[in-house]
Amino acid sequence: MTGYRKRLDTVVIGAGVLGLAATDALARRGVDVVCFEGRRPGQAQSGGRSRTFRHRHDDPDAVRLAADALALWRRWEERAGAVLVGGEGAVYAGMTAADAEGLRLHGVPHEWADGARPSPHFGALAPVSGPLLVDPTAGAIRTRTAIEALCDWVGDRIIAQDVHGVTVPPDGEGVELHTEDAIYRARHVVVCAGAQTPALAAGAGIGIPLEQALHTRPHYRVRREFADTPRPCWVDRGGEFGETVYGSAIGGTDTFVVGLIGQGVDVPMDGGLPVGTEMEEHVRRLTAYVAKALPGLEPEPVGVRVCVMTKLPGGSDAFGVWTAPGVTAVTGHNLFKLAPLLGEVLADSAQGGELPPPVRRLTRAGTVAA
Ligand SMILES: Cc1cc2nc3c(=O)[nH]c(=O)nc-3n(C[C@H](O)[C@H](O)[C@H](O)COP(=O)(O)OP(=O)(O)OC[C@H]3O[C@@H](n4cnc5c(N)ncnc54)[C@H](O)[C@@H]3O)c2cc1C
Repeated sequence: MTGYRKRLDTVVIGAGVLGLAATDALARRGVDVVCFEGRRPGQAQSGGRSRTFRHRHDDPDAVRLAADALALWRRWEERAGAVLVGGEGAVYAGMTAADAEGLRLHGVPHEWADGARPSPHFGALAPVSGPLLVDPTAGAIRTRTAIEALCDWVGDRIIAQDVHGVTVPPDGEGVELHTEDAIYRARHVVVCAGAQTPALAAGAGIGIPLEQALHTRPHYRVRREFADTPRPCWVDRGGEFGETVYGSAIGGTDTFVVGLIGQGVDVPMDGGLPVGTEMEEHVRRLTAYVAKALPGLEPEPVGVRVCVMTKLPGGSDAFGVWTAPGVTAVTGHNLFKLAPLLGEVLADSAQGGELPPPVRRLTRAGTVAA
């Protein structure tokens, strides 16, 4: 093939954390792989400075995947020579015995703590009426360090171009990708294009019911007198302070991010860009929450990030990996924590392997409206 028609073996579309992880996994296996990325790697949903790594999930299969992912994060840390998942732990309010049971089932260390006293696990937290579930091996992901390490590992395999479309050619041989300057014929394409994954996967006959919304997360400074107290990742489903929220330390800084979770808290983008971001209203609600629930933080935001997030109908931990001949596609939400594991799963699929049963089951569950 010459001129504007070219051949490639394996192509990854998108250099967010998942595309980078898949490209790295394939390259380590000796596969001839390139990754198309039209923008700066790691800047779309993988942008920002902190993500929560936590084990607790509603579905025990997801707990298993998180535990397996943490072991792979530790291998990435050895290769990177840097901490990627900090030792902050995670603390959850409003949990039940079933939440602890999922952790127990998969041998994830955890304990219950008395919420009514000042918490030795979370110094900035006000006393809460129920118990706190503590997940000590969870922590805040150092997202920038992780993206930098991945970019370093995949090196010049990134091609700085957008893919405009994916199609299955009439002769059924491989998959075609249309880019700015060529039509490529690839043996296998792995679509990791975040919000663009459904549009690209549709060309290969894969339908993905992904929703997009704008999400606001302000961050707050830790008061000086709490500077040396533990700052774990935080999930508050107790409702005692009027909101359901998550929070996370920004590793290596004295700031803490807080965001709303639950149905209807983000601004839907079904018809494209929404009219407003509702940034001010969300910052106001979160600041009121901080004033009540987190007295160890200054109740005045020092910054805010408003970003697009994608979700499947099954909820905020739902994700999926879909396959068609020559194509594997992945998307969902809260996937940073699973990146080292999904990189291997996607690489297996690109090499003709089956998806692991928990991934197949969670994909089906996540695409059914909750
Ligand atoms: C505010 C916020 C908080 C979050 N909190 C957590 C958390 O606490 N824990 C957690 O685990 N996860 C969390 N997540 C989710 C997590 O960050 C994402 O699931 C993850 O980063 C998705 O990575 P990705 O590689 O699939 O997608 P992205 O990072 O969106 O990457 C997709 C890439 O594809 C590229 N691309 C798109 N279209 C094309 C095209 N046509 N051609 C070439 N390239 C293309 C884009 O430019 C982009 O770089 C959060 C996300 C947000 C936004």
